Amino acid sequence: MRITQWIRDCVHARDASEALAQQIRTRQFQAALQLIPFTSTTNVGIAIATASAYHRLASPLVAIVWVLLIVAVELDSVRSFRLSKVRGRLAQMADLRRFAWQSGIVATLLAMPVIWLLPQLDVDNRLLMATVTAGLIGTGAFVLAPVPAAGLLWTACLGIGSSIALILVNGPVYWVLLVMLVIYSVLMAVTVLLNSRLFISNVQAEHRAEQQGQVVGLLLKDFEGSSRDWLWETDASGRLNHVSMRLAEALGRDAATLAGSSLIGLLRATFPSLSREENQALDALQLRLNGRRAFRDQVVPVMAGNDLRWWALTAKPLLDSQSRFCGWRGVGSDTTEIQRRDIEMTRLANFDSLTGLANRRQFQACLEAALPLGGQHQPLLLLVMDLDNFKAVNDSLGHLMGDQMLREVARRLSPLIGEGQVLARLGGDEYALIVPGEFGDGECESLGQHVLDALREPCYINAVRIEIRASVGLACAPRHASSAEQLFKAADAALYSAKDAGRDTVRLFNEEMDARARHRLSVMTELGHALERGELELHYQPQINVRTRAIVGFEALLRWRHGQRGLLPPDEFIPIAEETGMIVPIGDWVLQQACLEAMRWPEKIFVAVNLSAVQFASRSLVGSIKNALTQAKLSANRLELEITESSLIQDSSGARETIKGLRTLGAHVALDDFGTGYSSLAYLRSFPLDKLKIDRAFTHALDRDEQGESSAIVRAIIQLATALNLKTTAEGVETASQLEALRTMGCNEMQGYHFAKPIPTEKISTFMEEWQAGRGATLAQAFSAPAAL
Ligand code: C2E
Ligand code: CA
Ligand code: CA
Repeated sequence: MRITQWIRDCVHARDASEALAQQIRTRQFQAALQLIPFTSTTNVGIAIATASAYHRLASPLVAIVWVLLIVAVELDSVRSFRLSKVRGRLAQMADLRRFAWQSGIVATLLAMPVIWLLPQLDVDNRLLMATVTAGLIGTGAFVLAPVPAAGLLWTACLGIGSSIALILVNGPVYWVLLVMLVIYSVLMAVTVLLNSRLFISNVQAEHRAEQQGQVVGLLLKDFEGSSRDWLWETDASGRLNHVSMRLAEALGRDAATLAGSSLIGLLRATFPSLSREENQALDALQLRLNGRRAFRDQVVPVMAGNDLRWWALTAKPLLDSQSRFCGWRGVGSDTTEIQRRDIEMTRLANFDSLTGLANRRQFQACLEAALPLGGQHQPLLLLVMDLDNFKAVNDSLGHLMGDQMLREVARRLSPLIGEGQVLARLGGDEYALIVPGEFGDGECESLGQHVLDALREPCYINAVRIEIRASVGLACAPRHASSAEQLFKAADAALYSAKDAGRDTVRLFNEEMDARARHRLSVMTELGHALERGELELHYQPQINVRTRAIVGFEALLRWRHGQRGLLPPDEFIPIAEETGMIVPIGDWVLQQACLEAMRWPEKIFVAVNLSAVQFASRSLVGSIKNALTQAKLSANRLELEITESSLIQDSSGARETIKGLRTLGAHVALDDFGTGYSSLAYLRSFPLDKLKIDRAFTHALDRDEQGESSAIVRAIIQLATALNLKTTAEGVETASQLEALRTMGCNEMQGYHFAKPIPTEKISTFMEEWQAGRGATLAQAFSAPAAL
């Protein structure tokens, strides 16, 4: 069963469609017939040779008839051969059958003289005949294999004929020969079947490949017809050999003229002249092509008329049957829109939209590129700059004016920038500049001054005269730092110190600044634990009504009892707490403590608590205050909150709302350090305040006030405040003469070392008792000279 199935498989293609079966038949027919002119000639030649050599052993007539029969059949085969050559003619089953019969008849005719002659011949002639017959069986099996029926009939007829001849000879050697002949014939038959099977499967594989090729062709056609992409194909030297219509269209050329042109050459030729980027992009494509490795989305520029377009090319190398590189095949698509969007995105990502300068990200990248980590780098100078009065302009004259000021700064600095230098706006009113090169201290400072000078000329924005003032910090690489991050830190520390030194100043980084910066960092970390460890405490400084001599309130002032460094004043850690945001939880703690403490005091004494701008801007402020009051059960009107101008300026409408919220609670709001800011009293009027605290700088100036300038200012402040229904408290009163001067100006509430320094909590009750009793050193000192009052 299995053998018959196997034989069937060798003879016919399994599961083949009729079309395929017909194709196989045609190929079998053509393959078997292609040698027919030679085999027929050989067969006829053998027949004639046999007839002429052995005609004496038979009758010549028989020999002639025999030869003629063979010639006739062979002629019929030649007719079949000619039929097979007719183009497009499909072979039918009948053609194959006829061919098989022709082969069978010729084989039978050729076997006849063997049967007839072999027993009569001498040994030599027998050997000759056996050899010729074996050769005929082998050649036929090989040549006729594509049509297995023909091959099998041929082998069988000749094999059977020769076997009969050997039996007729009837000798021991011939019996052995017979066995060998049978084995040989069977082997030949199997060879015929195997070759036929191989032939059929080859034709089937070819058919499949052809079909796939057709499908791929159809798909490609469809792809080119419907998609915006196109196909391209080049030879090994990069010359186009497949030029799709779409590619020709995209290049604005005729497809016929493009074949054979170099792809890169064509792209280059679209440009009258190439920019550096365009050149680089085309060079990159050339590199890819030289690399002979598949690549994806290589973007190249193309000039279509006056329109610069971008293509993304994706391709695979083509290899021939010996795996040798023979060209490229790929797809191209027009990605101009994506490219334009990318360029715009890059521009947005790397440039400041307001000034057109590089932004922080781009600047950072440039600095990091100039100072590669662990790599060699060229010396350079980093300048960072911060505008001193931007906030004031922005807040008092509006954001539009602020923006114009920022643009003006960029406009003035841009002409100073030389080759290889990078100017950026890092954000807000912060600018930075990279200047490659090595500079001495003096050169650095004069460069910084040069920048400040460029800004110094007043500018007019919407007819308003504005002075641009800035502070500059400088640091050099590798002298001060070798990494971008460290260099930024150094320049920032220098900027910090320039601001500290009174603004409109240039400072070059030095080691001392570094030590300060490190100190700030250690404070930052330690402050995180100070609250948990209970290292914070409040001292209270009394505020006195000099007319009644009564204590009206205490201002809560924060201290940090540091493990190693002793008692630290707030100036050493509050700015840092503000930077880190720690001020919010610390401020909440202060509020709670101050309210609890105030509960221990007589009812008419209030507690004043300082709020930093960061705290004031926090949404949770009113809630925290309400909480502190409720927890301590303190009446809100005994709480005064001291805020600074910077709190009002940062978000004026938000500030107005917060103040209203605090006043709705019943608390009072005082403006601390009044006179040090930029705001006019008229501007401050718009906030519902209760009190102004005159900054201690004014109080101190009263002592050295030869021209009476400070007195005039303080008097004006007090009068205006009174007119606006605001109370005034003078801060920093240290001497009896200050007290006296202020009192004559109409200021009755005062605070300062003249009355008392800030007092630790545990000493407050003693202080109050002494004050009340009219005893105590402080009281005596404060009011000891009634004549002076
Ligand atoms: P401030 O609100 O202006 O506080 C008054 C400062 O002046 C206190 O310094 C006080 O000790 C000092 N002072 C009082 N009388 C005199 C005087 O006659 N002469 C002189 N030269 N100075 C006097 P302190 O306690 O070092 O506080 C400094 C600043 O720290 C405060 O200035 C305030 O702005 C801030 N601060 C203090 N405690 C807190 C707090 O709990 N929270 C917030 N956010 N800031 C606080
Ligand atoms: Ca204060
Ligand atoms: Ca103050």
